[in-house]
Amino acid sequence: MRSYTQFYIDGQWVDPVTPKTAEVINPATEEVSGEISLGSPADVDKAVAAARRAFATYGETSVKERLDLLEAIQAEYLKREAELGEAIMVEMGAPTALANGFHTLLGKGHLGTAIEVLREFKFEEQRGPTLIRKEPIGVCGLITPWNWPMNQTCVKIFPALAAGCTMILKPPQLAPYSAQILTEILHEAGVPAGVFNMIQGQGSVIGAALSKHEDVDMISFTGSEPVGVQIQKDAAETVKRVGLELGGKSAWIVLDDEGLAANVAGATAGMMGNSGQTCSAGSRLLVPSARLEEAKKAAAEAANGVTVGDPTGNFAMGPVVSKAQYNDIQRYIELGISEGAELIAGGPGRPEGLDKGWYVKPTVFVGTNDMTISREEIFGPVLVIIGYDDIDDAIAIANDSQFGLGGYVSGSDVEQARNVARKLRTGAIWINGGFDFHAPFGGYKRSGNGREAGVYGLRDFLEVKSIVGC
Ligand code: NDP
Repeated sequence: MRSYTQFYIDGQWVDPVTPKTAEVINPATEEVSGEISLGSPADVDKAVAAARRAFATYGETSVKERLDLLEAIQAEYLKREAELGEAIMVEMGAPTALANGFHTLLGKGHLGTAIEVLREFKFEEQRGPTLIRKEPIGVCGLITPWNWPMNQTCVKIFPALAAGCTMILKPPQLAPYSAQILTEILHEAGVPAGVFNMIQGQGSVIGAALSKHEDVDMISFTGSEPVGVQIQKDAAETVKRVGLELGGKSAWIVLDDEGLAANVAGATAGMMGNSGQTCSAGSRLLVPSARLEEAKKAAAEAANGVTVGDPTGNFAMGPVVSKAQYNDIQRYIELGISEGAELIAGGPGRPEGLDKGWYVKPTVFVGTNDMTISREEIFGPVLVIIGYDDIDDAIAIANDSQFGLGGYVSGSDVEQARNVARKLRTGAIWINGGFDFHAPFGGYKRSGNGREAGVYGLRDFLEVKSIVGC
């Protein structure tokens, strides 16, 4: 049993102002794995005051000082990586290979990227008579979700530290352990008191208090669209900057060529990764209508080949994060069936032999783009295949979404794939499995505002000042 009942404020582990704890459930067993404290606005006030005090000095540090700090954090992160992986497995159910692999690698990658960006970034430039300075925006509230805990936390903390900002992190209640270990890492690395603070608790309490706080300059949020809207409203009174990384319903376009079956199989397996709980998941798979039967066969085989089971074992997919998430996904699967989509793999209920734990069957439908399962973010291992007539039709279907977070194009003609990508109204498009930590990440339309990662991630935490006159 883990017990993390203290918060990290002003460089110290402290008790909450008002004691209140909550249980954390392991989604693989449905049993209690530990407890955390739930904070109150009084804890937020303390943390914001500490961050404000620390900003006076940390905001003035040199690039060299901040690089030294980030490198010290990097050394500590490497020492604790296995503990982070274990925590992620227990808190949100990622299989051990994934938790200790891509999950922790993403945190490490954003840290390394922040260092690379900081080494090269020009904080001052002279344009004619004007000296343009980039300065840290100030005190930041960082509010994160449970689905890729290290990714989403590290893509905020490290650029904010690189920029010279101070911050308060509010981790998700469902996945609070890895954030606790990360906080220990930052402490051990010597992050100055007050620069980084961490309070666990309910989003509607801690997140809202940060969003409304007079002395917080920016909120950086990753999570669902409705909460993003609420945060923007809460932050409006104090005119603070709000960065929003929200949901998606990304299209994966498979081009009509000899690699179709392999590309469909890859896209299907990709959709099931992390139990489908990825904001940029390619949840609408667009294939040429003329080759729908071939695509169906490849997708069904791939989905049926995804092994599901205990995250401590050698399975490709673990449970989804919670009972609520499980129920929501089941509701969408039933909805797909009732709206007339053709179920070709998976379906309602748990996979055979798994009676406990929030396990979902890797599920594939063939449907149309107007169905609810094609329009709303399911955030589970549920894929919808949609046929397209020609490439213009594929682009039109892909863009017919309220979201605009990601997109994928698979095919042997990379130039054609790039041309398709140019026409997609989304913040990122991955061609043939490409990946880059420096690629800016964020949404068009209802998928959010602002960009994270790489140099754009650093810019999000900076103000711009003009000093005019020689
Ligand atoms: P939520 O939006 O429910 O929660 C995200 C965070 O916001 C949690 O820490 C939560 O706290 C907090 N929160 C809840 N209510 C408020 C509030 N009123 N004010 C401030 N903070 C609040 O999302 P989920 O955790 O359920 O994550 C899944 C969603 O996030 C999906 O829709 C997914 O698409 C999206 N997402 C987007 C990503 C992107 O980069 N675009 C990446 C990952 C996920 P609490 O602990 O109480 O839940």
